[in-house]
Amino acid sequence: MQVQEAKDCWSEFIQCIEKKCSPVEFQNWIAPIKVKETSESQVILEVPNIFVQEYLIDNYKRELISFLPTDDAGEPNILFIIREERREKPVFTKPEKEEPAPQVEPKYSLRLNQNYTFHHFIEGPSNQFVKSAAFGVASRPGKTYNPLFIHGGVGLGKTHLLHSIGHFIKENHKKLRVQCITTEQFINDLVDSLRNKSVDQMKRFYRSLDVLLVDDIQFLQSRLNFEEEFCSTFESLINQNKQIVITSDKPPSQLRLSERLIARMEWGLVANIGIPDLETRVAIIQYKAEKKGLTIPNKVAFFIAEHIFNNVRQLEGAINRLSAYVGMLNEEVTQEVVEETLSELFQYVPQKKVTVESILKSVGAMFNVRVQDLRGSSRTKEIAFPRQVAMYLAKELINESLMKLASSFGGKTHSTLIHSWNKIKKQLESDDTLRRQIQMTKQNLEN
Ligand code: ADP
Ligand code: MG
Repeated sequence: MQVQEAKDCWSEFIQCIEKKCSPVEFQNWIAPIKVKETSESQVILEVPNIFVQEYLIDNYKRELISFLPTDDAGEPNILFIIREERREKPVFTKPEKEEPAPQVEPKYSLRLNQNYTFHHFIEGPSNQFVKSAAFGVASRPGKTYNPLFIHGGVGLGKTHLLHSIGHFIKENHKKLRVQCITTEQFINDLVDSLRNKSVDQMKRFYRSLDVLLVDDIQFLQSRLNFEEEFCSTFESLINQNKQIVITSDKPPSQLRLSERLIARMEWGLVANIGIPDLETRVAIIQYKAEKKGLTIPNKVAFFIAEHIFNNVRQLEGAINRLSAYVGMLNEEVTQEVVEETLSELFQYVPQKKVTVESILKSVGAMFNVRVQDLRGSSRTKEIAFPRQVAMYLAKELINESLMKLASSFGGKTHSTLIHSWNKIKKQLESDDTLRRQIQMTKQNLEN
């Protein structure tokens, strides 16, 4: 590749990227990159800091390979140079002591969704524990669980709870400095402040907080340098007994983050937010419908809840759609109307119907215990543990009220079932053998 060609390739690359990313992204990440030198086989790029380098490779490797020279292994052959001024002083320095707290800049103002308050959060067995932990933290920041780590699937109310803590503290502890950010925002702030040479100001801001609420920490995975800065902010706050709350789509142990950060995040309380059971889904449907002025007969609410079961956001979407339809046509909400408007949102359970009976048989075979013992009341470990596994599976796999499920286990209570489910779920985070046993039991059930 000729020198001129290489230069042209870079501009072609830029043109291609400009179409792919937003103007802000382009301005923040791509525009600061300068071509220093080009040769036939290599391009030398000057970047303001390591983050821009990482960003480029992480996000546009495919395009780099198509437009720029590659090495023998087919990787883009780029030599990165970090701009001089940055190299002279280390990017991150130790926290300065006793700096006065900076004035809050507009970009740091606290933004919370008005609807995400404890008041609007519907409780049920799947979220009661995490809700009360969140409430405890909001009532006594820095004095109960620290950090509080909330994890669970998409659309189950993690952000809702995080903002609820923010609202509550703002109202009840007016003097405390609270910030609520997404992990992406934290990374963007850091990049921004690196560009504007205001890293120290940013660090001072975050380290002067009394409460830091961080949403979606999974986005910190594979962002090594950002992780380091986050980790030191985290330590600085925790060491001063300042409250930290983190949400994530996975428990700490399953995140691809440094052992140090994982250990820090496990220091406090790790709480799971699960899929709401049928009754809670009905309560959520009724609550959201009422707020929209929509009346849904209970039978129809159950019908919706039976068909949309693993995501509260989808339930909300369903109510919005239903409300628009009914409002337009001035109709009553009946099962037929629901089927007509919502059927494409419905989730279908696997063909083969899993029952408590089939779970008990499978679990019994796996752990070598008799079904009648699993249904019985013996508390010896050899029987109680498989029974808990069976209860865990029943709650996971059968879309039925917890009360009904529990009674199919020889008249156990709904709280025994929840307790077993929690216990096994927690153990699954660290016990590979159990994970395998459960996987095999599930496979047996489906065949
Ligand atoms: P996540 O952050 O876990 O993906 P969100 O907190 O964004 O989920 O919740 C998705 C939507 O569902 C939000 O509009 C939220 O208000 C609503 N929601 C979730 N759980 C509940 C609940 N228990 N009660 C009321 N609304 C809920
Ligand atoms: Mg969220």
